[in-house]
Amino acid sequence: MMKLDIQMFAVPFHKVSKTRKRMRRSHNAMEIPGMVKCPSCGEMIKAHRICPKCGSYKGKTVINVKEAE
Ligand SMILES: [Zn+2]
Repeated sequence: MMKLDIQMFAVPFHKVSKTRKRMRRSHNAMEIPGMVKCPSCGEMIKAHRICPKCGSYKGKTVINVKEAE
């Protein structure tokens, strides 16, 4: 007599189609939170911080980047 395999885990009712799987994964792309585009130079910078590339904050030049180097 054969031994029966008893499934103790939840089994999906239906196969998930390629389209459904891909639609679900469309939101899985990695995102870096708190990164914004600098309004003056367009560089991706951390939000609420002076842009390290052009030294501007809220549209005004706050620090001189070239002098600081
Ligand atoms: Zn900038």
